Amino acid sequence: TTALDIQGLRKTYDNGFTALKGIDLRVEQGDFFALLGANGAGKSTTIGIASSLVNKTDGKVSIFGYDLDTQREQAKAQIGLVPQEFNFNIFEPVVEIVVNQGGYYGIPRAEAFARAEVLLKQLGLWDKARDQARNLSGGMKRRLMIARSLIHQPRLLILDEPTAGVDIEIRRSMWEFLRKLNAEGTTIILTTHYLEEAESLCRNIGIIDRGELIENTSMKKLLNRL
Ligand code: ADP
Ligand code: ADP
Repeated sequence: TTALDIQGLRKTYDNGFTALKGIDLRVEQGDFFALLGANGAGKSTTIGIASSLVNKTDGKVSIFGYDLDTQREQAKAQIGLVPQEFNFNIFEPVVEIVVNQGGYYGIPRAEAFARAEVLLKQLGLWDKARDQARNLSGGMKRRLMIARSLIHQPRLLILDEPTAGVDIEIRRSMWEFLRKLNAEGTTIILTTHYLEEAESLCRNIGIIDRGELIENTSMKKLLNRL
């Protein structure tokens, strides 16, 4: 099964700038995939389109076989997204932020609460569950974003620069969490501009440069060449 299938993906923003010039990319189920590239290369645009936040200009995208144009709701239900920016209400209690996200997917509140408890415990946030999110450190906010993205148990988790600005200790614990999630069957795609992060976590890698996919290989093969 292919988790993410992108063919001929093009994106021209309203200002006329073409951020993606025709990208072909497949990520298989179970993979841990890194999308690497310099700032401005097109990583966020690519995952924004895959997760239905950004409209594409041209091309085909499917998620676990669901076409983004004709089966958008099913496609979206397969994906959890952790964007770069914190976009929760900082005055809400941590647990509410996670539980309320379940509402988007029609998950009953009691079930959402039970899932939120498990996720927040795994991510080391349960003792903060009743605190307003504004009281969390940066690394904790990042982990809250991850907990929220998993409430509907997506088959594909996409993270945009998940450990940017996170200190080394927390980064390692986040890596551990992601490795375990992947080992349990969740396909993971992350963007990063740290080769070290990709190297430590990912099996396969795509490199984007100015809107073009210039490399698509296994981490092992890439490292052998360096
Ligand atoms: P990355 O995630 O690799 O840093 P992005 O996908 O965010 O790259 O951006 C790719 C290019 O598209 C950049 O040159 C960026 O300035 C441009 N871009 C991103 N969003 C917009 C937008 N809303 N309007 C115009 N240009 C944009
Ligand atoms: P805001 O845009 O001010 O952050 P929203 O209520 O639009 O507030 O969204 C809150 C969060 O819920 C967002 O971060 C977004 O990722 C998520 N979200 C919004 N709409 C949907 C949706 N239809 N399906 C899944 N998640 C959604």
